[in-house]
Amino acid sequence: MLAMVLDAPGQPLSARELPLPEPGPGEVLVRVSACGVCRTDLHLADGELPEPRLPIVPGHEIVGTVESPGAGTSGFALGDRVGVPWLGATCGTCPSCRSGRENLCDRPLFTGYTRDGGFAEWAVADARYCFPLPDGYDDVAAAPLLCAGLIGHRAYRLAGDLAASLGIYGFGAAAHIVAQIAVAEGREVYAFTRPGDTAAQELASRLGCAWAGGSDQLPPVPLDAAIIFAPVGALVPAALGAVGKGGTVVCGGIHMSDIPAFPYRLLWEERVLRSVANLTRQDGFELLATAARHRIRTETTVYPLLDANRALDDLRSGRLVGAAVLRVR
Ligand SMILES: [Zn+2]
Ligand SMILES: [Zn+2]
Repeated sequence: MLAMVLDAPGQPLSARELPLPEPGPGEVLVRVSACGVCRTDLHLADGELPEPRLPIVPGHEIVGTVESPGAGTSGFALGDRVGVPWLGATCGTCPSCRSGRENLCDRPLFTGYTRDGGFAEWAVADARYCFPLPDGYDDVAAAPLLCAGLIGHRAYRLAGDLAASLGIYGFGAAAHIVAQIAVAEGREVYAFTRPGDTAAQELASRLGCAWAGGSDQLPPVPLDAAIIFAPVGALVPAALGAVGKGGTVVCGGIHMSDIPAFPYRLLWEERVLRSVANLTRQDGFELLATAARHRIRTETTVYPLLDANRALDDLRSGRLVGAAVLRVR
C-alpha cells in the first residue's frame, strides 16, 4: 500500500510502499478514504512531541470503511463506515482509566504517533476506539470532526457551562467547529486570529461569531472563558487579560511555545488556567451527536495523499482556512 512516512522529525514525509497491515484480535482493517491533517501531525513532523515511534505513518482523523474485522471484533461489520481518532487504545487498568479519565491513561496508544495512522491507503485500528460517523457528512467533511472536533469539544466543555461569552484564540480547524457549536448553543463567540488574517476573521464572522479581530486586540467586553488553540505561549497572558473575574482559560493544544512570565494580577480573582489532553470515547460520542444535531459544517481544503507535505507546510504557515484533509481515494 502507498503511505506517507515520517522517518525522522525535521524531515519531509516520504512516499513509500508498505505491506498491507493485518488486523489482530479486536482490530479492524480500514480502507482509508480521507484523513484530516491536524496541528499535532505538524508538531510530530517538526520534532515537538517526545518519543514518537519511528518510522511512523501520521494521521489521526481517519475516515474509511471496514474491510476486514479481525477475530473477536465487535461493533463493526464489513463495509461499515468508521472514524478512527487520536486515542488508539488505553490500558483499562491504570488509576486514570479506572477513574473515568482514559484520556490520561498511563499506557495509551495514539494513532499516527505511537501506532501507524491514516496518511496511507489502509490502516489498522482497535475497534473499541473507533466511532460510527453520522450521515450528512461525506468522508472529507467528516474527517476534521475526529480530532479538531473532538478535542475542540472537550476544550469547549472544560471552558464551563456558564460561559455566555467565549473567546477563541487561533481560528483554524478546531475553532471553526467549536464556534458553530457555541453559537448554536446561544453563546457569544469572540474570535482572535493572527493579526491581519482577514480570511480567518471573515470565516469567523460568517460562522456567527459576535466579533473577530487580531490576537493583539482586547475584546469589546470581558470574556467568561477563552480557549487557546494556537500553539503560542504568549497568548496565555493575553487571554487571561481578556477574561473577567472567575474566568477560565483552556489551552487546547498538545504543544505550545514557552509561556512568558506575567504578573499575578492576571490570574487573581479566581481566574483558572488549564490544559486539555487527548479525548475519552465519551467525548467522541458526544461531539459526533452534537455535530449532527446542530448540523455543524466543516470547511476543508483538500489535498491528494501524495501532497501531505504541502498540507503540513500550509498549516505551518497559516495559509489555509478551515481544516486540511488528505483525500486518499
Ligand atoms: Zn490506562
Ligand atoms: Zn489532532
